[in-house]
Amino acid sequence: MRSSFPASTVLGYPRIGPDRELKRALESYWEGRSSRTDLEETARRVREDTWRRLAALGLEGLPSNTFSYYDQVLDTAVLLGAVPGRYRHDDDLATYFAMARGAEGIAPLRMTKWFDTNYHYIVPEIGPDTVFSLDAAKPLAEVREARALGLETRPVLVGPVTFLLLSQAAPDSPDGFAPLDRLDDVVEVYARLLAELAAEGVGWVQLDEPALVADRTPAELAAVEAAYDRLGRLEHRPALLVASYFGDLGDALPVLAGAPIEAVGLDLVRGTVEGVEALGVKTLGVEALGVKALGAEALRGKTVVAGVVSGRDVWRTDRERALATLLAVRQRAGRVVVSTSCSLLHVPYDVERETGLDPALRERLAFAEQKVAEVVGLAALLAATPGRDLPDHPAAQERPHAFPARTAEGRAPYAVRAAAQAEHLKLPLLPVTTIGSFPQTGELRRARAALAAGEIGEAAYESMVRAEIEQVIALQERLGLDVLVHGEPERNDMVQYFAEHLDGFAVTRHGWVQSYGSRCTRPPILHGDVRRPEPITVRWARYAQSLTSRPVKGMLTGPVTIVAWSFVRDDLPLREVVFQVADAVRQEVGDLEEAGIRVIQVDEPALRELVPLRRAEQAAYLQWAVAAYRWATSGASEHTQIHTHLCYSDADQILAAIDALDADVTSIESARSRGRLLGAVGAFPRGLGPGVYDIHSPRVPGADEVEHLLTEALRTVPAERLWVNPDCGLKTRSYEQVEAALANVAEAAARLRDRLS
Ligand code: GLN
Ligand code: ZN
Repeated sequence: MRSSFPASTVLGYPRIGPDRELKRALESYWEGRSSRTDLEETARRVREDTWRRLAALGLEGLPSNTFSYYDQVLDTAVLLGAVPGRYRHDDDLATYFAMARGAEGIAPLRMTKWFDTNYHYIVPEIGPDTVFSLDAAKPLAEVREARALGLETRPVLVGPVTFLLLSQAAPDSPDGFAPLDRLDDVVEVYARLLAELAAEGVGWVQLDEPALVADRTPAELAAVEAAYDRLGRLEHRPALLVASYFGDLGDALPVLAGAPIEAVGLDLVRGTVEGVEALGVKTLGVEALGVKALGAEALRGKTVVAGVVSGRDVWRTDRERALATLLAVRQRAGRVVVSTSCSLLHVPYDVERETGLDPALRERLAFAEQKVAEVVGLAALLAATPGRDLPDHPAAQERPHAFPARTAEGRAPYAVRAAAQAEHLKLPLLPVTTIGSFPQTGELRRARAALAAGEIGEAAYESMVRAEIEQVIALQERLGLDVLVHGEPERNDMVQYFAEHLDGFAVTRHGWVQSYGSRCTRPPILHGDVRRPEPITVRWARYAQSLTSRPVKGMLTGPVTIVAWSFVRDDLPLREVVFQVADAVRQEVGDLEEAGIRVIQVDEPALRELVPLRRAEQAAYLQWAVAAYRWATSGASEHTQIHTHLCYSDADQILAAIDALDADVTSIESARSRGRLLGAVGAFPRGLGPGVYDIHSPRVPGADEVEHLLTEALRTVPAERLWVNPDCGLKTRSYEQVEAALANVAEAAARLRDRLS
């Protein structure tokens, strides 16, 4: 007899530490300031504190193996022995961090966004010859570590199908090879892992299969069926929870429902909601599921781990609605467990620490700790509610349907703009620029903290920022860059900075959420109507421009990104909120122009992130997202050059939308993916800057390497439209790295210019 699943659980938990202890430990280890033992001790403490806290809050089902030194997908690659030869090293941690961050002369693995979140995972490389072998050390160690504290846990692993669907084909793979072709081999390793965990006395294992909430082909669904049939029929294994999240399972639901597994995890917050939400209609997960998921007979014998507490927002759960959903599930499933809709990795630790927030707002908020308490409370409520007592489904709420009538009157055609700008800006061929930020020095960060604490005055801070701008401008002139930036020294973060200067937002002090590796962001909370009380960036841009005769780019964050990287009110359709922000950006663009700024960049790195996972919902989203961007930028005159920046290389899927943004110049990541995207965007009809310096890694690219990347780019992009720039902003790098890298970038551009003329 298998033990039944505990009554309450969470699918995962933050792991960076309430005070970002892990971040500090990692960075000091990487810089050689502390030992491996120090790092391991910090990691152990973060895990211990998490388990103890969850247990103290009354949570019954504790997850383990949700900790990571960098990323859970990378951990899974290591677990499966899928380590490309070039990274192998005697020291296992050195191997691990080389894959994540690169090593001398070796570029790291690619990194990309985890579904539609702002978390980035490392993309494993799988080829036809990848030799898989089990390395179960990490999940086993975590189980034992928790046990030593008297706590039983459920190891959480990325499932085999999702792992392979998220992987890329190794560079030397034959055409037509897909990582999923290796499913049988990978499943065998999972089978051995399950046997080891069973031998260890582990009762339940959670396999995460979020890839199943996106559209899947019949062949992929057949692969899911085969994989879980094989794993389910193993003789020695723990009970299996296959967890889906970020949407509803659709066609994959009957497949999982029919598989010989014990439990299925469903996201009952998003369900089918997302795409519909874009249209301003509110549905309840329970209704969609009432028809679809829970109608499936096969769920009767299964445990449903019901994600009714959102892991993706910071709002308190509506208890009535959550309970109604749980009761509906209980009617249809074998057993129901109260859970979060996904891992709590995507929310901050504890709202109680936010003593600076308006109490009326704080009342409405729940971070990870509060969400755990909600799960526990709902489990108790559910247990106390007799089976027959099914309340009526709360009616689907009509959302306000106030779409703005703002349509962008188009700018002049590109050819007209390009001619006007050439005349106005007089840039050389292959102009060199950067994406905006320069390194954030410790001095600046300390000054900002001192300003916030009232230890220094506005004037002192202001003069520090000005001094920094002076240095950044001088440096760029010295390096021979063509379109300069002021370096964004006044910004803690590209979204938070704007949030702090717009009405309708609140910012937190401790609300950190992991973005990638040791990097965290503090998403602002957009809780009311957005307005721009006064110009935000203009004085800095004007000052920078006063120091040089070369054009200085004004730097703004786009409306979609500001919203995507915030926690957003849920009482208005998302697109209405985005248009409110677009209005503010449009005003700022106008004021920058008026201040004499000739180039304005409006970054939209999150455009793709919000693309709904289901194809049927994508077109509607892209349409309004593009419209919002154009509303923000189309007030600019034809002489003003509008740039945009997007941080990813797999732009293929939304190329038409990026094109429709109608920016004069688009910069995009590509150094890490070795120009892979150029095939796709080469035909781009306007200016294009494929990144030639991977700023996610401390590595400094050589001039030859950059020249090579540019030569490659010139095969698809005409020289008149090719721009030279890094992959992304430089704020996370050191001045030493940046100076060396930009010098090489400028030299490569100069060499090519010579060759071309
Ligand atoms: N302008 C921003 C910067 O340079 C862009 C950052 C981003 O794309 N994430 O920091
Ligand atoms: Zn970027």
